[in-house]
Amino acid sequence: MNQKKHASNPWYSRTDTSKLELPDSTWKRVLPPDLYEVARHGETERAFTGRYRDFEGIGTYYCAACGNALFRSEAKFASTCGWPSFFEAERPGTLAYRTDRSFGMVRTEVLCGRCGAHLGHLFDDGPPPTGKRFCMNSISLEFEPDRK
Ligand code: FE
Repeated sequence: MNQKKHASNPWYSRTDTSKLELPDSTWKRVLPPDLYEVARHGETERAFTGRYRDFEGIGTYYCAACGNALFRSEAKFASTCGWPSFFEAERPGTLAYRTDRSFGMVRTEVLCGRCGAHLGHLFDDGPPPTGKRFCMNSISLEFEPDRK
């Protein structure tokens, strides 16, 4: 892991799963501006621009804001939607959900269960075995390959 990248974020941890409830001003200070806009203001990166959309590495995807484990690469699937997509979470409770009524739609917003960062949305058109599609912003994710 690139520790330097998170040097300004003392709450980042790959092992501590305790919930974080920090004020917006703190996140604004510790996150890079582009990640802050997605994580704390629900911005969406442009389709087909994210670094993990076509990515097929074997490993774990962590929350880029807090280090919480979110998805395993085995749950990633090739989606045509333009964002990295997964059919299940890394473990129960690692994600949180909220109804999103923006843009005249009713969608399920997906948040990090540890820090509350906006990650993306959940749809019911995914592949077996779950039928779910966790449609994520690449910028909200941080991939770490498995150790050989
Ligand atoms: Fe998080």
